[in-house]
Amino acid sequence: MRCLRDLLQKAQQSGVAIGHFNISDLVLVRAVFAAARELNVPVLVGLSEGEREFVGTRQIAAFVRSLREEFDFPIFLNADHTHSLAKGIEAAKAGFDSIVFDLSALPIEENIRQTKQAVEALKAINPSMLVEGEIGDIGTGSEIHESSPDLSKGLSTPEEAKQFVESTGVDILAPAVGNMHGMLRSMVQGETKKRLDIERIAGIKRAARVFLTLHGGSGTDDQDLRKAIAAGINIAHINTELRVAWRDGLERGLAKQPAEVVPYKILPSAVDSVKQVVASRLRLFNGERHAAQGI
Ligand SMILES: [Zn+2]
Repeated sequence: MRCLRDLLQKAQQSGVAIGHFNISDLVLVRAVFAAARELNVPVLVGLSEGEREFVGTRQIAAFVRSLREEFDFPIFLNADHTHSLAKGIEAAKAGFDSIVFDLSALPIEENIRQTKQAVEALKAINPSMLVEGEIGDIGTGSEIHESSPDLSKGLSTPEEAKQFVESTGVDILAPAVGNMHGMLRSMVQGETKKRLDIERIAGIKRAARVFLTLHGGSGTDDQDLRKAIAAGINIAHINTELRVAWRDGLERGLAKQPAEVVPYKILPSAVDSVKQVVASRLRLFNGERHAAQGI
């Protein structure tokens, strides 16, 4: 089994990105794993602090590890948006493959100082764990927002990206390049799309020379996602689109069988609904070369 760093390197050479999908229950894990296996592409599943609290940090690590081993399949586990070193250490000890250490809300000097400390502390526990740092403002909450936050002042610059990466030693950088956590209602309805600053991504890639992650990918224009990957994005995060599909599928499953109480008879509707979204995003992130296989 190749490690996550090798697979990121391979993705970079092939001009594709690894899909990252947030999970907080068995429906989501099953849907992501099934889609990735059918398309035969590596995949990252991630849990924020809130998602980990619900599922159990050590429990999800054991579950994902068991999938990886039993099916000999490259599914990796990321500790998404971790805001304290204590939570990071917990994830490192549980065996997470990577961590998003997110102090982007702090002034950049403080973000640099604490992220550098975190890189050292986490790699002392697991030298192969990849540490991602965050700069800029892309909003919070992978949910449906009624109005758009003004994120224009929080866009990342190539200079800031270079300084951050060189000072902290992070393996991966998540910049603010027009992306945003969550979706506007008009995006859920398909009336509007997020647009990315492709030139900014290319400039940051040239300056920072590390793997780049795009957070808040839900609701982004497909062509912008393709261009962003070509410009240097290596990992693309999707959460809100999955949550919307999860709810839709669950409601459909309940409505279809109003008298049913057996979870494994109701929940497959939710698995199918989420799986379709994951498969569609994985095809796009992987250059659609797997589209012919269908799902
Ligand atoms: Zn994120």
